[in-house]
Order: sequence, then C-alpha cells, then structure tokens
Amino acid sequence: MKTDILVDWEKCGDPRECKRCLQVCPQALFIMYSPQWDSDDPDVWRVDVAFTDLCVRCGDCVEVCPDDAITIR
Ligand code: SF4
Ligand code: SF4
Repeated sequence: MKTDILVDWEKCGDPRECKRCLQVCPQALFIMYSPQWDSDDPDVWRVDVAFTDLCVRCGDCVEVCPDDAITIR
C-alpha cells in the first residue's frame, strides 16, 4: 500500500524552531527547505517528506507535531 504523508503548511508554524518531525522520524524522511535560504520569514520555510515508500507508518510524526499539521494516508 502506498503511503502519503501530507504536511499542512498553513498549520505548521516555523519549522526552523520546531523540527520535531525531522527529529522523531526513525526513517529520517522529513526535509526542510526554502526557496530563499537567507530568508527570516517563517512562511517561506517548509517541511515535506521525501521517499514516502520508506515510511513504516509508525505515526510518531503525527503524534509529536504540536500544530496537528501532519496526516498519514
Ligand atoms: S509515520 Fe513514522 S516513518 Fe512515516 S514519516 Fe512519520 S515518523 Fe516517519
Ligand atoms: S512537527 Fe509539525 S509544526 Fe513541527 S516542523 Fe514538523 S510539521 Fe511543522
């Protein structure tokens, strides 16, 4: 079964301050990026999931997210 990990960027606040999903994922699937690397604007920073086929569906990312921004499908 294919897994999709959806991150709601509207709900995720400033991923540079939080980083919990990046730290908790046992498969290290989360990435953080910005089109402007020198930007201090939290709205341009995003987290997303690369290589979702490696997700083990542990649910840790959903559990740890303080903004309820992650959905597993
Ligand atoms: S469900 Fe588990 S393995 Fe999958 S992205 Fe979330 S923390 Fe990583
Ligand atoms: S845990 Fe949630 S709020 Fe924190 S960076 Fe990840 S998606 Fe954003």
